[in-house]
Amino acid sequence: MMSKHITRKRIAMFAMLLFPFVAGGCSMNPATGKKHLIFISQEQEISIGTEAAPEFEKEFEGKVPNQELQAYVQMVGSKVSAVSEREGIPYEFTLVASKIPNAFALPGGKIFITAGLMSKMTNERQLAAVLGHETGHVAAQHNVMGMQRQVGVAVLVDIAGQLAGEDKAGAAEAVTKVVAGMAGLRYSRNDEYEADELGIRYMTRAGYNPWGMVELLTVLLNLSESEPGSLTEMFQTHPLTTKRIEEAKEIIEDKHKDFSPTKADPNAARFLRMRRILFSAVSELAEK
Ligand SMILES: [Zn+2]
Repeated sequence: MMSKHITRKRIAMFAMLLFPFVAGGCSMNPATGKKHLIFISQEQEISIGTEAAPEFEKEFEGKVPNQELQAYVQMVGSKVSAVSEREGIPYEFTLVASKIPNAFALPGGKIFITAGLMSKMTNERQLAAVLGHETGHVAAQHNVMGMQRQVGVAVLVDIAGQLAGEDKAGAAEAVTKVVAGMAGLRYSRNDEYEADELGIRYMTRAGYNPWGMVELLTVLLNLSESEPGSLTEMFQTHPLTTKRIEEAKEIIEDKHKDFSPTKADPNAARFLRMRRILFSAVSELAEK
């Protein structure tokens, strides 16, 4: 362990020599308590996510064109993100029209859930679980570190610089690189466990029954058995194993004993009303 620590320190020093003007650095993540080497500042992280969001949204067939639905997803997302640890992140939750079940988080707090995923859920705490899980990826900075791996640190720092500058064409090219990098991003199993744990923490703090996380993971697992092709994309970015369900159960049984898995979600009726609106907004979903 000791040598690992020293190695990290040496890497940090080496990085500072290489990138003397980089705004980031080695800091402790407030959500996980872990030390990470991040090469861009929080401000740069937010600007990269903000710039990439419109193109990312287009990739998933654009926003579902219904104000009430968007406001509802934003309301549930705001509840879970408001109680997460990183300060100054402008979380924003968008329901996109893609029928393929999936959810994503861009660096800086732009979070997307597809109509395909929302249509498979049966209550609000399951929605809170997905949005809490994605908030967890942002809070733990998994996606920033993922981009550093995927796009490369030097390129990422370059992108951040271009976005801050006057070079509009350079910035547009930079955004395309980010979107491609994010689309190819694979979280590790450990990132997934950590995002589940943070999701459980946030949904509980926000007043939701954390068993919604186990329900959600079970819905996905059943779906992977009944419609194996439909979740390929989601499982590439967020690996799902039965072990994730076991781990989530263990956390809830250990830390949130007061909640019962059999108690009905008091907000289920509200969710189902929204799901009906979603079915009529994205008509092909209703035909299934
Ligand atoms: Zn995930």
